[in-house]
Amino acid sequence: MLPYGRQSISADDISAVVEVLQGDWLTTGPAVDRFEKAVGAIAGGHRAVSATSGTAALHMAYAAAGVGRGDQVITTPMTFVATASTASILGAEIVFADVEEDTALINPAVVDAIATDRTKVIAAVDYAGHPADYDALQRTADRVGALTLDDAAHSIGGTYRGRPVGDLADLTTFSFFPTKNLTTGEGGALVARTPAMAQRAHEFHFIGLVRDPSRFRITDEGPWHQEVHDFGFNYRLTDIASALGLAQLRRLDAFARRRAEITARYDAALAEVEGVRIPVQRADVDPVRHLYPVRILEGRRREVFERMRAGGIGVQVNYMPVYWHPVYQDQGYRRGMCPNAEAFYAEELSLPIFPDLTDHEVDEVVDRLVTALT
Ligand SMILES: *Cc1c(COP(=O)(O)O)cnc(C)c1O
Repeated sequence: MLPYGRQSISADDISAVVEVLQGDWLTTGPAVDRFEKAVGAIAGGHRAVSATSGTAALHMAYAAAGVGRGDQVITTPMTFVATASTASILGAEIVFADVEEDTALINPAVVDAIATDRTKVIAAVDYAGHPADYDALQRTADRVGALTLDDAAHSIGGTYRGRPVGDLADLTTFSFFPTKNLTTGEGGALVARTPAMAQRAHEFHFIGLVRDPSRFRITDEGPWHQEVHDFGFNYRLTDIASALGLAQLRRLDAFARRRAEITARYDAALAEVEGVRIPVQRADVDPVRHLYPVRILEGRRREVFERMRAGGIGVQVNYMPVYWHPVYQDQGYRRGMCPNAEAFYAEELSLPIFPDLTDHEVDEVVDRLVTALT
């Protein structure tokens, strides 16, 4: 089965990992520092904190933002459940804002209409790798005193109005799962615009340990002393994974170029095919396409999905609206809330896209899709 996404691992990636295994540090060593600095450098020059997953990075971001009971978090339903669930776990009320009909990105006008002084975070998702409209979202956030968050699990390496992903919101989170734009196996990272927010995220991912003597509240212990002021988790990324991440980061430009080539090849082949809508791109963004989401019209998505899978093409559907999950239905969220997201979900089909996908394989996917439609 040709998968919808997969990692690309080179000989250099492998030797970077082997080198760590032969050294002194398996975790919380120099490779973690180097990886965090490299991620920060491509993400607007802000401090980055690595994490065990994109989900962990989202949990860290909401914790660093101070999200808790009584707070509202506005987010998009067109995402993986973790964008919302990690705020729910902290006690926040999730308010889902519908998406734009064409991009499936959170609609800033809807966000502006529903934001209140209880809104703590406005969390956008760069669906398929296409950055959301952060200038508009930031205006609303500033008006109500909220923070912006970019769940950039799909979009590392992309730009919006000339600014890199990582510099678009107060907080940005990445996932380095194997299907994403670069991988550490499992892994993720957070980038924060302010050092204070990055430090809070760092402590949350490090069991809440405070190690700076100038902040100690217990001052009569010895040089071994460390203390906890707020609870945290162990969400630390290993040096093994960080070495892979560093090696992968060096290939990100090449990955982005190949994803753009595949996108252009699909666009050209599918633009005139009846029954299919190809993804749109706004003029002010330069995305790194994590997904290639087409829309299958006339109620035929499931049938086409099944035919493609039967033909060995590992298509995927991204995503069922988050509030359809029983955990949210149990809380009283109802279908019909976000009609654009539901209409998008009903038609969406993700075609294979990953750096090692060949032109020949792209053509085969197109042939299979055209056949499935006839
Ligand atoms: C993959 C993904 C996550 C979660 O990342 P993990 O590393 O799998 O925990 C969060 N949000 C979105 C939009 C994702 O695609």
